[in-house]
Amino acid sequence: MADTVLFLAHVASGASLDNAALEALELTRARAGSGFTAGLVGDSKAATEQLAGAGATRIVQVTGSPFEQPRYATDAAAAEAICRAVSPGIVIAAGTARWSRALPGVAARIGGRADTHATAVAFDSDQPVVTRWFYRQRMDAALRRQERPWFILIEPGAAPRWQGEPAEAVVETLEPPPTETRTQVVGLQAPATGEQTIRPEADLLFVAGAGWTKKQPDGQTHLEDASRLILDFIGLAAASLGSSKSLVDLSGEGQAVLPFLTHLNQIGQTGATPRHVKGLSTCCHGEEPHAVGWRFIGERRAINLDTNCGWARGKADVLYVADAFAVMSKVNELLRARKGAGASA
Ligand SMILES: Cc1cc2nc3c(=O)[nH]c(=O)nc-3n(C[C@H](O)[C@H](O)[C@H](O)COP(=O)(O)OP(=O)(O)OC[C@H]3O[C@@H](n4cnc5c(N)ncnc54)[C@H](O)[C@@H]3O)c2cc1C
Repeated sequence: MADTVLFLAHVASGASLDNAALEALELTRARAGSGFTAGLVGDSKAATEQLAGAGATRIVQVTGSPFEQPRYATDAAAAEAICRAVSPGIVIAAGTARWSRALPGVAARIGGRADTHATAVAFDSDQPVVTRWFYRQRMDAALRRQERPWFILIEPGAAPRWQGEPAEAVVETLEPPPTETRTQVVGLQAPATGEQTIRPEADLLFVAGAGWTKKQPDGQTHLEDASRLILDFIGLAAASLGSSKSLVDLSGEGQAVLPFLTHLNQIGQTGATPRHVKGLSTCCHGEEPHAVGWRFIGERRAINLDTNCGWARGKADVLYVADAFAVMSKVNELLRARKGAGASA
């Protein structure tokens, strides 16, 4: 008999489902041929209507102020209550920080198993086959499991988003047993949006390499120019800013470098493996430990003075053999002109 498929999401009060949830929802909707149940943590009519529009045959919800805060105890209690009410064989959820923290514990409580960082789920004769990458994205594997319920957390950015029309929803509300919590959320501190340079949802990843800090053909370094060119481009193109390890290691050593870069920007084997439609590497050599972090970048371009750099050896779709200072200066000029034309139109 086919497993009951449960799609789980959390939502901010009154908000729509976020992109990670919409991606996991699309994957669930497209794969679960015999229909699916949706479980929602959070109070939002807009979200329940999205779930109904996506074809959920049953919607079970946990609401109330304790469940609005991202906190292990309450997230796990809400998910456990939904799972006990639905008795699913398969649970699919977005691999958000919240679910990645809470759902493996829920799986343990109800005798199931959890796999995180899944990039796809297929159903082979009603049996799920989960795909995920191992060994820093060097190998991918297809997994099957006999144990149920099987919790599958979908890596954000790995699937298209659900984009259908919302529909009227019939919702069952659950009341989980009281949960003891020690964590109180007293506020949220986050950088202003304009200061944020890591933008997982941007179409373009712009990578800065150590070449930006090196002596240029005039025998001088040009750090101020480099900072201005990079930050102007990030702002104008609304791109996400990545870095090579060499560049952020320099800043860790207290050398005069680009102060807005930290190890959080690092792409590669010991850094991040983000997902973007396109990537542009500048002043970065494209060595394997760096380029392996580009596994999920759709189209790769690089600007390097060196015709023999790593990008030239099959790692980039397009390599511009050129001075990145000159190219980015021209690109920024064109972007500014285009923005100006747009503003006056
Ligand atoms: C175990 C291990 C893990 C590692 N993990 C990572 C990782 O996660 N991420 C990572 O990035 N690295 C990693 N590395 C390091 C990696 O091997 C490289 O040393 C590093 O990526 C090099 O950084 P880079 O290309 O910015 O600098 P460089 O190698 O110094 O290259 C600078 C480039 O800039 C170019 N350049 C200079 N001026 C200009 C200009 N005006 N216009 C255009 N081009 C210009 C030069 O031609 C040169 O190719 C790892 C290494 C090891 C051993």
